[in-house]
Amino acid sequence: MKPRVRFAPSPTGELHLGGVRTALTNFLFTKKHQGTFLIRIEDTDHERSRKEYIDQICDSLQWLGLQWDEEISFQSDRGLAYEYCIDQLINTGHAYRCFCSKEELELIRKETGSFLYNGIWRGREQSEINNEIKKGTPFTIRLATPDDGVTEFEDMVYGKISISNTELDDFIIARSDGSPVYNFTNVVDDKNMNISHVIRGEDHISNTPKQILIYEALGYDVPNFAHLPMILGDDKKRLSKRHGATGVHYYRDSGYQPNALFNYLALLGWNPGTEKEIFNLDKLIEEFDLSKVQKKSAIFDHKKFHWVSSQHLILQDNKDVLSDLIDIDKQWSDDEKQKDYLKLINIMKHRSHSLKDLIERSQFFFHRPMNFDEKNFKKVWVEGTNSIMQDLKKNLEFIDSWVSSELEIKFNEFINKKELGYGKIMRPLRFALCGNLNGPSLFDIMELLGKKEFKYRLNYIINEFRNNEQK
Ligand code: GLU
Repeated sequence: MKPRVRFAPSPTGELHLGGVRTALTNFLFTKKHQGTFLIRIEDTDHERSRKEYIDQICDSLQWLGLQWDEEISFQSDRGLAYEYCIDQLINTGHAYRCFCSKEELELIRKETGSFLYNGIWRGREQSEINNEIKKGTPFTIRLATPDDGVTEFEDMVYGKISISNTELDDFIIARSDGSPVYNFTNVVDDKNMNISHVIRGEDHISNTPKQILIYEALGYDVPNFAHLPMILGDDKKRLSKRHGATGVHYYRDSGYQPNALFNYLALLGWNPGTEKEIFNLDKLIEEFDLSKVQKKSAIFDHKKFHWVSSQHLILQDNKDVLSDLIDIDKQWSDDEKQKDYLKLINIMKHRSHSLKDLIERSQFFFHRPMNFDEKNFKKVWVEGTNSIMQDLKKNLEFIDSWVSSELEIKFNEFINKKELGYGKIMRPLRFALCGNLNGPSLFDIMELLGKKEFKYRLNYIINEFRNNEQK
């Protein structure tokens, strides 16, 4: 049978990295087996659920390319189904009404010395129950759980998990205002959506035995479970807002691309078993193996993520990079300069970890450096630099073809003839052309700027130096 899986976010915040990892794992697993990927919005918490987060989550999933296969389902539409199932459980004796007030529960806890509910309303006479209902005493609904034995399941990541039923009490499945709890709605919906594999964060592992008891009480088959280890920040604490941006929108707006985010998140806690680490979505689907997900929590390492992201940029066709750049920065949309942009991308993408990073590093192309950092200026442009640069300009004036390889040859001839150190001329030259002290190959930059612009920029800084001297 082909798998049916779902990603079931609660719209109480935007989609964050942990959520993407869960959604992605569901997606990879099901697509690998030609199964179905579904979305369910768990919006039963009316106070904390927001429409804007629903939109944001769906928008993020679409940006990531995690397209769902059927209409999204909303828990807020499913009230009647939950009521129906609660009635069924009461009628079959698998659940019962508990009329204990908060104070009574507190007292029971003190007396028994345990947080577990002692089942005081279990098996009461119907007349007694009717009496309380007549009086209008508020009640919760509790599941009648087994007194002994064990509840166990085979987790696809963690292996066999088993809990003694004595550790579980008759827990609440519907609150006194009638609203069903998460564990209950989750089971009813997974059954309704025919979910074969529940793949979710490890933080839900303690819910699973309770959910299994609900499945059994309702007479449903229990699905397969896979819990995914948590993602941690570099302080080894669970990744949260404290660690800076964790929302998907931040990554999109910072110019990271879906493939990079996927690839990195898929690698977190999953060992592809090969040397290769860079995969696009199709390749990930092919390679992904849930049984190879590690149990240990994984740390989100920004440095490694940047590396993965830059590898994707390098692999991406320059024309595609350009079209992505145009989407976020109109500076790149001058058709006449397309050839130069492609050259620029080719030079800069090897040093950039995101589209935004590439844009920042490319500013020298769009804007001539004019306001030089004073400290750096003093450091690199010293006595004698002006005349060396004048000389260099003259030497390059009659070069046949203004291309990187030719420029390098001529440049080397020049420094050998003049017996100049490489750094003595490279650093000021880079500073003159780009306004900073490091970057990609200078010869590539010279080719890109063209002879006219090269001369302009050099003349400009030579004059700046003169003007400074005269002050
Ligand atoms: N709504 C739950 C959450 O956002 C999902 C739990 C599940 O996948 O079963 O954590």
